Amino acid sequence: MPLLAVLVSVDFFVGRALREDYIRAANEHLSNTALMHVRWNLLGVSFLILLLGVAVSLLYSRRFANRVARLQEFSRRVAGGDFRPLPQERGNDELSDLAHILNETAVRMEATIRSLTEERNRSAAILRSMAEGIAVVDARERVTFCNQAFSRIWNARPAGIEDKPAIEVIRQTHVVELIRQALSGEETLHGEISLGTAQPRNFSVTVAPIRSFNGVITGSEVQQKNETFGAVVVLHEITDLRRLEQVRKDFVANVSHELRTPLTAIQGFAETLLTGALEDQKNNRHFVEVIRNHAARLSRLTDDLLKLSRIEAGKLDMDFQPVDLEALIGAAVESARGAASQKQLSLAVADVPRNLPRILGDASLLREVMRNLLDNAIQYTPAGGSINVSAVGGKGLAVITVADTGIGIPQADQARIFERFYRVDAARSREVGGTGLGLAIAKHIVEAHGGEIWVESTVAEGSQFHFSLPVAA
Ligand code: ADP
Repeated sequence: MPLLAVLVSVDFFVGRALREDYIRAANEHLSNTALMHVRWNLLGVSFLILLLGVAVSLLYSRRFANRVARLQEFSRRVAGGDFRPLPQERGNDELSDLAHILNETAVRMEATIRSLTEERNRSAAILRSMAEGIAVVDARERVTFCNQAFSRIWNARPAGIEDKPAIEVIRQTHVVELIRQALSGEETLHGEISLGTAQPRNFSVTVAPIRSFNGVITGSEVQQKNETFGAVVVLHEITDLRRLEQVRKDFVANVSHELRTPLTAIQGFAETLLTGALEDQKNNRHFVEVIRNHAARLSRLTDDLLKLSRIEAGKLDMDFQPVDLEALIGAAVESARGAASQKQLSLAVADVPRNLPRILGDASLLREVMRNLLDNAIQYTPAGGSINVSAVGGKGLAVITVADTGIGIPQADQARIFERFYRVDAARSREVGGTGLGLAIAKHIVEAHGGEIWVESTVAEGSQFHFSLPVAA
């Protein structure tokens, strides 16, 4: 603009000089030649002014075009994710205002994109680490996202699942049906499935629609249009829950059954006595003895049940003290000696090293474990057999073994005998006064000490029950 001012001033002064020339010529009645001279001067100067004007506007428009190109380049950079600001413009016109606004917009966009990226990374990390299997299915019923837990449930890798039709991945018609219902606009749906046959796993299924809320213009009003464009599938494993429910049901059924047997016997013999057998001198004593035996059995059963429930509820007061295993084993064997010799069984402590490490434990509960194992060995070993107790220490553990030459346990039952009420031969167990709870109690006690209990056995040859206990640090 200052250039334009210069031009206008030049024009003004040159024009004034020419005008003065002209007036002077006219005043002095100059000849035609003089007039021609003036005209040529006039033309030359005008041409010069024109040239100057063109040059100035060319310069100005080139500078303008350069600034616009810089803005274009900047917009392109921002679209590509490069948010470096434009260099500050010195001028004070509309273009420098625009550059300033664009710079501010870029700063805001960068902040928004950064926070969105952080949010996305956080959500992805949460989804990845979740134990629940999560997948997103689009409107075409294709899996567009899944986490590791989800792919593990279907024995695949996330990459092998994504973009595949849901029906191919989720081979459960019930789940696919729930997805279809959600995609067709239904609210959150719930179901339950069971996978696998050998060791079935139970899952609760939740399928929720993903909706977009778009504004739709109808006439002069803007209305919210609710569109379902996908569904989220969440699989939550409930195998343990279902198993526990089953265990609880079985437990109630077992307890009722175990109680019914002695109660029925007691009731039956009591009635027999009342209806005349009291006078039967030959049998009345025997009937009363049967009642006493069943009552004793009931009492053992309720004692064991109480013990078990206290252990399971974590209400057992455990008094952890250093325990001398050699002394513990010696005392347990001594108290079982009477029962063993009554059944003509040899009972001995074999191989208990003198330097057996001390363990930290509740001596009275560990005595209970020994008593259960020795009682079983005596009950399930025919006369003439032998029972040996041994112990070894090492690798931070002490392992105690009770071995017998008894009837043994079939392979198929070995894993289950530590369950409550599980017996290989229920009738025989009852006959010898067993409650079916001894090994379950022993297992709980050993595990409460941080150890393990297991069995090795061969039918008709004998069994070895081992339990380990961590040694005191
Ligand atoms: P029970 O009161 O019936 O003995 P346990 O829980 O102590 O209950 O044992 C469960 C079952 O394991 C027993 O019924 C028996 O079938 C089997 N069992 C336990 N110990 C032995 C053993 N030493 N030899 C053979 N079978 C055994």
